[in-house]
Amino acid sequence: MKAGLEVHQQLAVGKLFCACPTELSEEVTDAFTRSLRAAGGESRAVDIAAAHQASRGLLYRYETGPCSCLVEMDEEPPHPLNENALDTALTFALLLGARPVDEIQVMRKIVVDGSNTTGFQRTALVAVNGVLEVAGKRYSVPTICLEEDAARKVRESPGEVTYRLDRLGIPLVEVATGPEIVSGAEARMVAEEIGALLRATRRVRRGIGTIREDVNVSTEGGHRVEVKGVQELRLIQEYVEREVARQKFLLEVREALVRRGAKVPEGPPRDVTDLFRSVTSGPFSGAGRGGQVVLALPLPGFAGLLRSPPGSEERLGRELADHARSTGLRGLVHSDELPAYGVSETAVSELRQRLSLAEPDAFVLVTDRSVERATLALDRVAERARAALIGVPGETRDPLPDGSTRFSRPLPGRDRMYPETDIPPIPITSSRLDRLRSSMPERPQELETRLSRSHGLPSELVRQLVYADLVVRFESLVQQGHPAGLVARLLIQDLPAVPVPDGGGPPFEPSDQLLGAVLAAIESGRIAKEGVPPVLEALAGGAPNVEAAIERAGLSGFSREDLLALVHRVVEANADLVRSRGEAAFSPLMGDVMREVRGRRDGREVSEALHAEIARLRAG
Ligand SMILES: [Zn+2]
Repeated sequence: MKAGLEVHQQLAVGKLFCACPTELSEEVTDAFTRSLRAAGGESRAVDIAAAHQASRGLLYRYETGPCSCLVEMDEEPPHPLNENALDTALTFALLLGARPVDEIQVMRKIVVDGSNTTGFQRTALVAVNGVLEVAGKRYSVPTICLEEDAARKVRESPGEVTYRLDRLGIPLVEVATGPEIVSGAEARMVAEEIGALLRATRRVRRGIGTIREDVNVSTEGGHRVEVKGVQELRLIQEYVEREVARQKFLLEVREALVRRGAKVPEGPPRDVTDLFRSVTSGPFSGAGRGGQVVLALPLPGFAGLLRSPPGSEERLGRELADHARSTGLRGLVHSDELPAYGVSETAVSELRQRLSLAEPDAFVLVTDRSVERATLALDRVAERARAALIGVPGETRDPLPDGSTRFSRPLPGRDRMYPETDIPPIPITSSRLDRLRSSMPERPQELETRLSRSHGLPSELVRQLVYADLVVRFESLVQQGHPAGLVARLLIQDLPAVPVPDGGGPPFEPSDQLLGAVLAAIESGRIAKEGVPPVLEALAGGAPNVEAAIERAGLSGFSREDLLALVHRVVEANADLVRSRGEAAFSPLMGDVMREVRGRRDGREVSEALHAEIARLRAG
């Protein structure tokens, strides 16, 4: 296999073509709707991906917030390109040794899924031919672009998609690598390195969703498939590995289909509504009433190949269903899963007879109140089934939270670009590049060395801070006077280990102030380092402040005096053991004391108190 990455990083320098802020807002002030259609590109040809999106005929609703403006609503031409955003993209390009273009020409890239009010996304090539080095291997970076982010999808209902304008127009640096990645693990490493380099500019937005990756995967004999919009870096490896497995599966299915002489018939689908009139439950229960039709597509030679083979999660039936769904249907039913859905064995044989199918033949059913939509769905299914006879179709897929992916649309071609005539070309002058070269930011490795030196931390720890995007937070907490070692442990070890709250609520994102209060509790001896995880968990579970969290975690009210009294009690109770075995009694007694203390006092403090008490008893 081989893979390439496209990384999209939001910048925190204001929007790209207006003066609006780049913060997201949950406040909705108004809404308006638009419809979009696919227009031809510069060569007048209509792009296949755009045509596919437009064919869904959806209505798009846009929610505006307190900061929305006419540029975002596409009621006013774009303002001049944000110079700070361009400087940041150029600086990043120089970090990769890329060659900036002589002149920036903003282009319009047709996107008609409603994510842009204009029906296109503005994008500009900034630099070419960069190089990235990760773990001794060089990866090419053919292009670095600056583009505008899309609107944020908030809801989807039948026939309508709702977006919010707050994210639309946030500048994105788009970094594309060459196809030199050869494993899922490598894809993740390259993505992490690009992320660290982007953050080195110190002008990026931070937090979930501010960096998104597209992963292009192709396999020998398969095809390039783009998994678009991965937000969780740790899942990149899984998406890559599962896409490789999916392509291998599809190639095996193809071989079986070809061996059997399978084919997909031309011509309109068959109306079999009358056979389902007596079905009383499931998706077909309304057949023949209120205009609901049932249409069938015979698939000669496909029987048994639509379901998952043993030990695999992939199935051709799901691929076909995804295509039916792309027309707005709920899905489809195929013969490998029947009888089921209220369809009896008898109904299945009647249906087979009607369609003149033999044993090795399969069929697909769809049902809908619109005969046009059901027909379109089966056309798409037939198209996808034909592609199965050839192998792996090139397509764009959506990443799902469980590490699998789902078809979203065909791969776009080159017909979707045309020049943005509202923005004049911007020459990149040598004086501009000289100015940027004279104030280059610290590279991740330089940052690592500096942090390691100035805080006396092990380099592996510092590396984790840099690559997990924790440096800003680390520096701010250390600046507040907290010890670097404690801060690093809290950020790298304790915070990521906080379990997701019950019911899958929002992730725990404590403020720096709250973390400072937790650190202060350790420093003052109110809790031990070992007590931090339960305290964080209590905070994640809704404890209003650190005091309450310590209380809720059962760690309150254990003072140094309480500890000394406990140690005294334990040593006295085991006086015979201490007298006979001396210092060797330390380990078992330490275990006894720690069981009582449980994160309420620091381990070192306990150990010192115990040693002192043992010595006192033996001396006496
Ligand atoms: Zn604006």
